[in-house]
Amino acid sequence: MKIKVMSENLANKIAAGEVVEKCASVVKELVENAIDAGAKHIKVNLEDGGIKKIEVIDDGSGMDKADAVLAFARHATSKIYKDDDLYFIETLGFRGEALASIASVSEVNMITCSGDVGTHVHIKGGTMDLVEDASARQGTIITITNLFYNTPARLKYLKSETTEANNCIRYIEKLALSKPEIAFTLTNNDRVVVKTSGSDNLLKCIHEIYGLNVSSNMLEIKASSDDFLIYGYVSKPSVLKKNRNHLNTIVNGRVVRNNDINRAINDAYNTYKHEGFYPVVVIQITTDPTLVDVNIHPTKQDIKISKIENLEKLLYNNIKKALYENLLVPNALIDESLNNVKSDFSLDNNYVSEKNTTVIQTKMDFAEPRNVMDIDDNKNAELKTLNLYPIGQIHGTYIIAEDEEGMYILDQHAAHERVNYEMIQKKFQESEIAITEMLVPLSIELTTSDFNTFMENKKVLDDLGFKIEEFGINTIVIKAHPTWLTKNFEGDNLKSIIDLVITNGKNFNKERFLDSLAKMVSCKMSVKANERLSFEEMNQLLKDLVKCDNPYNCCHGRPSIMKFTNYELEKMFKRVI
Ligand code: ZN
Ligand code: ZN
Repeated sequence: MKIKVMSENLANKIAAGEVVEKCASVVKELVENAIDAGAKHIKVNLEDGGIKKIEVIDDGSGMDKADAVLAFARHATSKIYKDDDLYFIETLGFRGEALASIASVSEVNMITCSGDVGTHVHIKGGTMDLVEDASARQGTIITITNLFYNTPARLKYLKSETTEANNCIRYIEKLALSKPEIAFTLTNNDRVVVKTSGSDNLLKCIHEIYGLNVSSNMLEIKASSDDFLIYGYVSKPSVLKKNRNHLNTIVNGRVVRNNDINRAINDAYNTYKHEGFYPVVVIQITTDPTLVDVNIHPTKQDIKISKIENLEKLLYNNIKKALYENLLVPNALIDESLNNVKSDFSLDNNYVSEKNTTVIQTKMDFAEPRNVMDIDDNKNAELKTLNLYPIGQIHGTYIIAEDEEGMYILDQHAAHERVNYEMIQKKFQESEIAITEMLVPLSIELTTSDFNTFMENKKVLDDLGFKIEEFGINTIVIKAHPTWLTKNFEGDNLKSIIDLVITNGKNFNKERFLDSLAKMVSCKMSVKANERLSFEEMNQLLKDLVKCDNPYNCCHGRPSIMKFTNYELEKMFKRVI
């Protein structure tokens, strides 16, 4: 490591964001230094979540004696040395002075070696009281103990051992996903909690972090535009989590957080999943560093990207395409290996409680990898040629159907809702609009602010073929509606369309509004559970469903159809083994 001393001006710029507040931020600084030193193996050992001890061992280039001493000087950094460089940051860390900050509030032992003779330095409370030769192999071992011992106010802000450990785990997991070429090991009180092999294979790394259930349900994404290259994996909607923490986005090798990117990814899953659930995503984005401003936030996680709209489009289109091409009728295979799936999580995950929040949305989660491969051989087009024949209805809610290949179970509401949803989406595109005049116009009284909001955005309904007029103070009257609005849409449900315009309110986004309108209307127009259907009605529904672009889910992401192959039926009844 070559250490340089940077200008005071730059130091001040950076020092503004200088915060070491939790064990994870110490781990972060030390590990980023190890990465910058070219380490291929990085081991982090915590005691009590890092509160008692943080040790980072790397096999990087190490330091000679002069650098080892200088490394703890304020404003020493190997990474930046003039202001302009802030805009060309490609190495990970840039707050070289973090070591000095850490050393000023703890006790540090560092053994480092760049060649034959190693160096041992000891610092307590910022004072270096020992520099001596040491025998060592190449690399650095740095140990932080008694964090915040001399600043009780900050010590108080450290969270429980479990929370501190969890923060470190989350950080190392994300970092490992961004650096599959580096082998990471994280232990807490001698228990291994994260371990990756450094195979430089992203999918293998995902397996090592998330386990088999996730890694066997990932779709590869690979695409580029003039300014961006994206590569990575996104989970099938059968594997969802209850929070956004598993949207891992990596820009030029750096783990980042960017709401626009997250939204583009999440939007691509629209109609494939329920709201409030999020996919597991690991996406590497490569772009010209001049398009990235990493310095807007002291934690360096938030970034600003120029031409973000292009990137959003690239992500959205390619993820959507991957989902569309790969989603098939979930096979409802009941699998004995179900009980083995959990043990495939390679992690000793006492601390990792959120790993268990994977949502079992379809039975596909239970399928063993071999079976998933089988599914992938099919393509969407095949379903469209299916000739499903209805057998009957269960509890007025599910339809049983068959073809030569096996048996199908449909949720009649979800299936019908999908059919209606796609029908309405198509109607939105048509230029000729059939209109139904209402026998009895419906008048609706609104509050003043709702009335104003509605009138501001009324044009969107006009364009769809609604005839809505002002009718006295804060009152509107609906005189006609598009003809595709059929069953259940003569009375109160019309009012919910007006409400939808109002709730979309101030920052009205037409695309979003139309999508929620289609979802709402298709739900209300669809056959409900506990409704008897005739043979002809079931037959029609089956025919309409297989013609859909995505027959597998309702527009809210619930499954609409499940398949049991003949083989699976035979397996269930032990006709085959
Ligand atoms: Zn519904
Ligand atoms: Zn639904």
